[in-house]
Amino acid sequence: MLKEEAALDCSWSKNSLTVERVSSARLPTGAGEFRIAGYRSKTSDEEFVALFKGEIRADVPTLARIHSQCLTGDVFGSTKCDCGPQLHRAMELIEREGSGAIVYQLQEGRGIGIINKIRAYALQDEGADTIEANERLGLAVDLREYRQCAEVLFDLGLCQVRMMSNNPLKLRAMEEAGLRIVERVALQVEPGEAAVHYLRTKREKMGHLLDTIE
Ligand SMILES: [Zn+2]
Repeated sequence: MLKEEAALDCSWSKNSLTVERVSSARLPTGAGEFRIAGYRSKTSDEEFVALFKGEIRADVPTLARIHSQCLTGDVFGSTKCDCGPQLHRAMELIEREGSGAIVYQLQEGRGIGIINKIRAYALQDEGADTIEANERLGLAVDLREYRQCAEVLFDLGLCQVRMMSNNPLKLRAMEEAGLRIVERVALQVEPGEAAVHYLRTKREKMGHLLDTIE
């Protein structure tokens, strides 16, 4: 019954989803006990990972984040960007709240891949900003699409979301996909010295909503 209502609420139906959940399992982490699920796109070879916990109900506004893979930030703790701290902050907020979901989108470097990202970093070492570097390599600034990430959230039972994002493109994509954004939860982490220039570029050239930097 609840699922049916969710479908009505979000004007989606389960059989129109273009992603499928392949498996899920428990995942204890330093931030708390989560579940992890693996999803496959039915229309491409893209894969998604969802980290979630608690009772997720369509009629309850629920914390959610679309986190884009950043090997350098998430795994190595690079201070060139704020991805790692944002991911961990989102996990902490969900743990504190008791429920919520993060979709981890496996698209490194806004979709350009890790090798191209390293090539872009090399250009940045010579003074280019993140956008100029991509342009000089002949790569689009942002290749990501978020619709299927929204579908993963829907499959987990979300309908009304409290979106943890500073990226207006992601917020718009969630709404276009049919999720109702009832709140934007800012994930502002104090940036390290090295990330300030990067974040300023994201704010000035990509419209990110950031006020922890000058
Ligand atoms: Zn990053």
